[in-house]
Formats: sequence, C-alpha cells, structure tokens
Amino acid sequence: MQVFWTAKVQKIKCMNEECDEINYIWENKIKEGYSWNCNKCQSKHDIVLGISFSPEIVKEATSA
Ligand SMILES: [Zn+2]
Repeated sequence: MQVFWTAKVQKIKCMNEECDEINYIWENKIKEGYSWNCNKCQSKHDIVLGISFSPEIVKEATSA
C-alpha cells in the first residue's frame, strides 16, 4: 500500500542564479505581499503583482 502525501505546498526555486535551493511555500500563503527567505542563501523573495506597465512607446524597427 502506498501513501501519497499531498501537502498544499508549492516548490519554488530560489531566484538567486548561484543557488539551487527549492523552497516549499504553503499555497495559502502565496499572495501579493508575502515574502520569504531562501533556506540556503537567505535571499529575500517577495510575491508581487505580475504585471509591469510602462507608458513608454517602443518604436518597432521596420523590416527591410
Ligand atoms: Zn537561495
């Protein structure tokens, strides 16, 4: 008989490119404003709204 442990956690890889730690974050904590520190390198991670807006108009290069 197998028992599957289905905790409501998300595996989030550390954003530090020099660190490969996977941090386990409870799903119910994942919302804007939540932050945690990596277990390994202690880098701070923040959850922010995922859209960035800039009023600058990007001029597209015309293809020749
Ligand atoms: Zn890390």
